[in-house]
Parts: sequence; C-alpha cells; structure tokens
Amino acid sequence: MASEYKVREGIERSLIPAKETFFVPGYCFPCRRPTNFMVDFQHCFVDAEGQRTPNWRERMVCRCGLNNRMRASIHVLEENFNPQRNDPIYVTEQITPLFSWLKGKYPQVIGSEFLGDAIPYGSSDSRGVRNESLMRLSFPDASFKFILSFDVFEHVPDFQQGFRECYRCLKSGGILLFSVPFNLWDQKNTVRARFRTTGEIEHVLPPEYHGDPLNSEGCLSFYTFGWELIEIVRSIGFSDACALAFWSRHFGYLGQQQILFVAQKE
Ligand SMILES: [Zn+2]
Repeated sequence: MASEYKVREGIERSLIPAKETFFVPGYCFPCRRPTNFMVDFQHCFVDAEGQRTPNWRERMVCRCGLNNRMRASIHVLEENFNPQRNDPIYVTEQITPLFSWLKGKYPQVIGSEFLGDAIPYGSSDSRGVRNESLMRLSFPDASFKFILSFDVFEHVPDFQQGFRECYRCLKSGGILLFSVPFNLWDQKNTVRARFRTTGEIEHVLPPEYHGDPLNSEGCLSFYTFGWELIEIVRSIGFSDACALAFWSRHFGYLGQQQILFVAQKE
C-alpha cells in the first residue's frame, strides 16, 4: 500500500510546474465533460527544503467552481446512491459552490451554516442563510433521505451528538455521507482541542483552523479522526458504516486524503 502511495506521489509531483497557477487536464464528473482543472498554491504544504506541494484536495478547481473534494463527493453520492431529483437532502453548508451545484440539480436540498446564537436555529438571516447546529438540528425526525456533511464534524466539540442528530433526522434507509480530517495510519481519534470545565478552550495540540466562508479567522478543529470513528458511528445505530478511499488521475482526485465515509440508517 505504501508503495502505491509513492507511485501516486510521483504522478502528482510530475504535474507541478514552477508557476503560480497551472492546469491539469481531466474529466469533471459533475459537468460530465473533459476540462482543465486549475491548481494554485493556496493552502499548500511546504516541506523542510521549501518545496511546495499544492493542496490537491482543496484545489483542482473546474470551471464549474467545484474543487477536487467537492467533485468527488458528488461522484460518490450519484454513482453509489442514485439520488432522485426531488429527494429531501440536507447538506451542512450553504455559502459554497457545492451547495449551489446541488441546489441546481436537486431543488429540495436544504443547506445551512453555523451562525451561533446570532439568530434562532432553524431560521434564516437577511441573506437567506439558514442557521443550524449539528448539536441540535431544528428538523423533525426522519426528514431526509440524504445528509451530506463535508469537513464539519471536526469542528463540533461533542461530535457524537452531531452523529446522533444526523441519525435522528434521517429516514429509515437514509444515507449519511461525510468527510473529516482523517489519519489513515491511526486507530484512535486524536483530540486536538477540548473545552475545560471552566468553559475555556484547552489546546492539546497546536491549534488548527480550517477555512470558513463566514469567518476570516477560520474555525478551530477539535479532532483528527482515526479508524475508531467507524465503530463510534455504528454504536450510534448506523449500519454499514464504512470508509471509501479513492484516487484518480482521470477524474482529478489527487492527494492522499481522498476518503469519504458512508453510514446508513436501517
Ligand atoms: Zn466541472
């Protein structure tokens, strides 16, 4: 397996020219057509020698505006679960190209952002942005056939409560499709930060902030997950919880962190 990753890394490295922006030909699954994916060094990684590696997962942007991980999420959703146009779908983001794309194809989709106590949960602000917390979703039980959540659970201090809420809001047979920062080589979850009993945040590891469309400082990541996540998701009641790892030069799914999780409510 490690040698396969070396091969992939070699392919990826051969694609990097000494330019700030470059294009990698491939096929965009959501567009259903060949395209040139745009890559730059936004959120890139820099090694000890100063060599930059693009953040493949967040870049490889098609003309449709979708990056690598967004295109892959749509690919897995549509190829594996064949959603119908009017299926009730909830996605835990709203001010993103992914939400816009989903809304164009699946009119019943509901998106939201976490606005805190600025406005009541379940209501929308003047821009039409709906406020929801994964800790207590405002939706009735069994509301959705699909819940999609990409890179959000790591920001929920009590992520298990987040999974319980998704379980509650899914219909029987419903699917939760999600991604989180994941360490392929760890069994255990890593706690990066936690709340002290006094209410202040304790940083167990150097704080990691992820891009947030609503907050220029980014959003604190409380966890990097390991394989025990699958057992935790099953213990909440989901069946068939599993990880899907993928990589494709053709579809432009580069980078090692191409993992999506699927869990089904029986
Ligand atoms: Zn596209």
